Amino acid sequence: MRVGVAGKPLYRRHNCAPACRVATGSLQPVPMKKTTGMDRSVTKGWRKATQAVRAGTWRSEHGETSEALFLTSGYTYEDAATPAARFAGEDAGMTYSRLQNPTVAMLEERIAMLEGAEACRVQASGMAAMTTALLCQLQAGDHVVAARAAFGSCRWLVDNLLPKFGIETTVIDSADNDAWDKAVRPETKVFFFESPANPTLDLVDMEFVCGMAKEAGITTVVDNAFCSPALQRPMEFGADVVAYSATKLMEGQGRVLAGAVCGSEEWINEVLLPFQRNTGPNLAPFNAWVVLKGLETLDLRARRQSENALALGQSMEDRIIRAGGTMLHPGLPSHPQYALAQKQMDACGPIFSFILPGGREQAHAVLDALELVDISNNIGDAKSLMCHPASTTHANMGEEERAKMGVHEGMLRINVGLEDARDVIADMDQALGAAGL
Ligand SMILES: *Cc1c(COP(=O)(O)O)cnc(C)c1O
Repeated sequence: MRVGVAGKPLYRRHNCAPACRVATGSLQPVPMKKTTGMDRSVTKGWRKATQAVRAGTWRSEHGETSEALFLTSGYTYEDAATPAARFAGEDAGMTYSRLQNPTVAMLEERIAMLEGAEACRVQASGMAAMTTALLCQLQAGDHVVAARAAFGSCRWLVDNLLPKFGIETTVIDSADNDAWDKAVRPETKVFFFESPANPTLDLVDMEFVCGMAKEAGITTVVDNAFCSPALQRPMEFGADVVAYSATKLMEGQGRVLAGAVCGSEEWINEVLLPFQRNTGPNLAPFNAWVVLKGLETLDLRARRQSENALALGQSMEDRIIRAGGTMLHPGLPSHPQYALAQKQMDACGPIFSFILPGGREQAHAVLDALELVDISNNIGDAKSLMCHPASTTHANMGEEERAKMGVHEGMLRINVGLEDARDVIADMDQALGAAGL
């Protein structure tokens, strides 16, 4: 039986008046359903695809198959001593949904298991997760080294938010191992990077960079949005903290925003939680529930979308290169870090970019000719989506900084979805042709 603290069942029947019992006649005492999804000694032995479907599942006394949605902000107590014990930290029961919620807790447990992390806390969006993961551990006088190639808002945190609070930042070419080493100062506290990076698909040699950070007492924060734990688990290469936009592959069907931060139990409890509980970037229970359902198909989607992205990349590579363009695809041997991609990633993932010789005009012409693939700046979705980063996700940073990070005017980024790859290939084929390629 799943029990809460002090041997009490976690889900207790409300002490209803007789009239209420009549109205809800089905509320007979039912034996608690045995559920192993929250028992780490059992779940840990499961393979990732099994964990994605089952880890973290709690069942109420009704034995529901689908995870229950607890749309509640608060909790009630049977006596005054109970909340007193909970607020004192002596009883682990729930007190308020900014602090705990059962649906949210199921998601956190499932993501932690998938990541191979001791603990996870979820946030309202990927950017809430990145902001929380950085600000919770930094203070004035600290220094951060970050990858130059990054999602636009991640770069905004590094370039604008952190310096406002007296935290100095240095951005470097993250594919260059020596650049990490050279940027370290005595007051460097955090390394922050994506691998692969959005939208240049630059990889970071995580074993090297995380190993060096560990020796110097620097915390590595890895934004793993492009892969999800189904395709890459940075902690296996020494990362301390893995942060997510769960909006992307984890949710997978473009419905809700969500974020997650994974780390050691000690780091989450002592460093992240005081910040999160008091500033409140929490994920709503409904959105947590949607992501839970998304995770059930994560393994299938991540693999199939990777296969489709590889097929599309192979079908167009020669044509792009012959036209004088560049492919940025971690699944193709032409990627400068192909060997590293093979080492760190289980598959290439659904997202890749390519640079057209004709600049913005030609890139926009390809987008305007698409018939199946949508023009959209989202990624990780089951639908194939394509965007022009220079005029959308990276429009804010100015042309000079964009050029430095490799976001050229002719760059297009595609998220390859779950459609039949042959249809996506045909659409790309005709769109490239319409743009004179
Ligand atoms: C989308 C994205 C984010 C931001 O996530 P949101 O859920 O949109 O807030 C952060 N990092 C990367 C790499 C992303 O692709």
